[in-house]
Amino acid sequence: MQDLMELKNVTKIYSQGLMSQESTVALNNFSLKMNEEKPTIMTVAGESGSGKTTLAMLLLGFIKPTEGQIFYKGKDIHNLKGQEKLTFRREVQAVFQDPFAVFNPFYTVDHLLTVPIKKFKLAKSKIETQDKINEALTAVGLHPQDILGRFPHQLSGGQRQRINIARALLLRPKILIADEPVSMVDASLRANILETLSSLQKDYGVSIVYITHDLTTAYHIAKSIVVLYRGTVMEAGGVDEVIIKPQHPYTQLLIDSIPWPDINRRWGKTDIKVEDMEIGEFKAGCKFYSRCPRSMDICKDLPPFYQIEPKQAASCFLFDQNLQIAPENMTDLLPH
Ligand code: ADP
Ligand code: MG
Repeated sequence: MQDLMELKNVTKIYSQGLMSQESTVALNNFSLKMNEEKPTIMTVAGESGSGKTTLAMLLLGFIKPTEGQIFYKGKDIHNLKGQEKLTFRREVQAVFQDPFAVFNPFYTVDHLLTVPIKKFKLAKSKIETQDKINEALTAVGLHPQDILGRFPHQLSGGQRQRINIARALLLRPKILIADEPVSMVDASLRANILETLSSLQKDYGVSIVYITHDLTTAYHIAKSIVVLYRGTVMEAGGVDEVIIKPQHPYTQLLIDSIPWPDINRRWGKTDIKVEDMEIGEFKAGCKFYSRCPRSMDICKDLPPFYQIEPKQAASCFLFDQNLQIAPENMTDLLPH
């Protein structure tokens, strides 16, 4: 069966300028498969700088991979033309961190929502346009009469982010990329907005890639999780496996540092900070080598993925007795 979307061994390297030798491997040999028949919510989790936004930009086709390929319905997204390109643009939507970003202060909400309908010719009449807008606003938990006619400054952050989700929903997307969608929203509203995303997956069959630095929300909303560290997948699997029984020493460190009873606290407030880390002498090996409490000599080589449970794999030599999985097949074992 053909995948809706597939990232195959995608690497993104940013060079810092023409003359500079400096470059950042923002994402390293990343593979992902998304199935159309089984829409799901998958979390991509990682601290700041782990490559999450780079992944979002790649999925949306905003940037090109340095190596590897990205397919939508079996075709390389950077070779799409005409109608196929338009379909891809419509079916893969995004909600970003900043709920203000897409609002022009001089236009009302109505304008923001009408533009995509016109652009993609989704309605034949004014009445149909209005019906679609009302339906999308209602689907994200807003009352159209409270929202329409308003300017951005007359709305709360939570309302703005819901409108962003409604805007994406209008286009009947198959995939929604949500990059830290609630991190700038009041803590008290977060759970509620995430619930809304969750119901879109169920009611509209949208697959959601939920990108976050917050493992507690990941556990609540997603079925599966991929843990990134400095551009590399450390561990992946079902949330019940990875979050409840983390196996990779890096994931264990992250989970242990979460004050679980307080779901509004963020992780990474302990001593784990990407900026503090040494780049490490062993660029070719495990990215976590220099900080890993269980590092071994062999970790100077790049660890492959090993399957630990039916729905869990980690890139760590501690599991070298286990079955190896090719990176491009790793997401096959994520639960839907
Ligand atoms: P995250 O969203 O997880 O914080 P990013 O994808 O934004 O991570 O960044 C991953 C790495 O790539 C970081 O080291 C960041 O500094 C670097 N990076 C991101 N965008 C660019 C860019 N346009 N040019 C150069 N480096 C970048
Ligand atoms: Mg980011």
